[in-house]
Amino acid sequence: MPSQSFLEQVSRSFDRAAALTDHDPGLLTQIRNCNSVYYFSFPLKRDDGSLETIEAWRAEHSHHKMPTKGGIRYSTHVSEDEVMALATLMTYKCAIVDVPFGGAKGGVKIDPRKYSRNELEKVTRRYTFELVKKNFIGPGVDVPAPDYGTGPREMSWIVDTYNSLSAGELNSTACVTGKPVAQGGIRGRTEATGRGVFFGVREACSVPEDMAALGLEPGLAGKRVVVQGLGNVGYHAALFLQEAGAVLVGLAEYEGAIHAPDGLDLQAVVAHRRDTGSILGFPGATDIVDSSQALELDCDLLIPAALEGQITAENADRIRAKIVAEAANGPTTFDADAILLKRGCLIIPDTYLNAGGVTVSYFEWVKNLSHLRFGRMSKRFDQAAYRRLLDAVEKITGREFTERELAGFSRAADEEDLVNSGLEETMVSAYQQVRDVRQRYDNEIDLRTAAFINAIDKIALCYQDLGIFP
Ligand code: NAD
Repeated sequence: MPSQSFLEQVSRSFDRAAALTDHDPGLLTQIRNCNSVYYFSFPLKRDDGSLETIEAWRAEHSHHKMPTKGGIRYSTHVSEDEVMALATLMTYKCAIVDVPFGGAKGGVKIDPRKYSRNELEKVTRRYTFELVKKNFIGPGVDVPAPDYGTGPREMSWIVDTYNSLSAGELNSTACVTGKPVAQGGIRGRTEATGRGVFFGVREACSVPEDMAALGLEPGLAGKRVVVQGLGNVGYHAALFLQEAGAVLVGLAEYEGAIHAPDGLDLQAVVAHRRDTGSILGFPGATDIVDSSQALELDCDLLIPAALEGQITAENADRIRAKIVAEAANGPTTFDADAILLKRGCLIIPDTYLNAGGVTVSYFEWVKNLSHLRFGRMSKRFDQAAYRRLLDAVEKITGREFTERELAGFSRAADEEDLVNSGLEETMVSAYQQVRDVRQRYDNEIDLRTAAFINAIDKIALCYQDLGIFP
């Protein structure tokens, strides 16, 4: 276990970056501190009639922009420290990808696998009710989303509970994001974090000089990848990387890991796990009973996509990956970070890399507030305009397009296309911004520090515009 708490680790990364800026110390303290934390507990009557006390938190790290935003996690690791650390990361993450929210995070200290659907629904609805009571949820206040152990189902219980307590509130659907589409969600949100990880990794791997420094060729094709955690984020990141030609040589879940130097077919592994209850025993792969050892496999790219504190001072020396792409929040401890960097490893930091989820949550929130699906007003108009253009090309050139060509060339963007395109633009330009900061410091700093500086500068500007701080 790391000797420092998660929040201390995040604070150390902040302090390292803050020391390189020339902002007023009072302003830096304001940016660093967590604005409010709400701890509560409530009783749960379980299906067998027994009573249990459930502990829960919601932390709002920064009110410099409203609403605050951040996921809700169901895990036995949840604690005040963890929720505050994750809320803190959310603030910087939103700033890095120019999403106009402060950071927040919530957590319920349960192992969701040990509760029935009915019990989880009771927990989620009561959690929401407690947030409503204290004004810790609302479209302009604080907007939760899925995180570890939660998904669209929990978000639909949240919006339903909030709606029932706020009758007539026009924008109530925007109280939470990551909802099912029928409940006001947006197409592309489920895959968004993993897709964002893919865009971020693709961008990092496209810079020839950065790849040359690692002894790698630019591009994703043939890159050997290990992924830890096949949940929402890990599964989708692995899927898009595999589709782009990367080779999945190792996959790890909590029950164990599998290794195959020639590559694993992700869909086949998922089907095998569904049928047998485990990824172990996958035909043609070697089993690794101690799942954490998968982190040490020989590979180009390691993607921790499970939980924080996975790469520590204890195992960092044995990590062989040339690139660590932090899909999870806080997977590398502060001390491990130093060890990896010393070895020349490129770390693509969580504050940037997993921001695809909050980016598309922002799109969902805007959709809910505008009460209009993206693309609804323009799709047919664009299609007709493309058709007219194609007709003109046919007339001028004498070349007749097939129906298939016409349909392809005149295809206009629907909601999912626009979401994915907005996400790609966000992840690509944010990477360039972070890389530019690093270059401003003559490449003497790592990407994590550059990302923090980028976030601190943007948040500082908000406070400076208020005229409170110099
Ligand atoms: P999830 O619950 O969907 O998936 C997590 C997976 O990790 C599960 O399959 C679980 O079995 C597995 N796992 C747990 N412990 C493990 C271990 N020791 N070794 C290997 N696998 C293990 O959660 P998620 O939403 O994919 O979140 C994963 C990480 O990504 C978290 O750090 C979360 O904060 C972060 N994140 C999630 C989102 C999002 O949109 N869901 C957004 C940003 C960041």
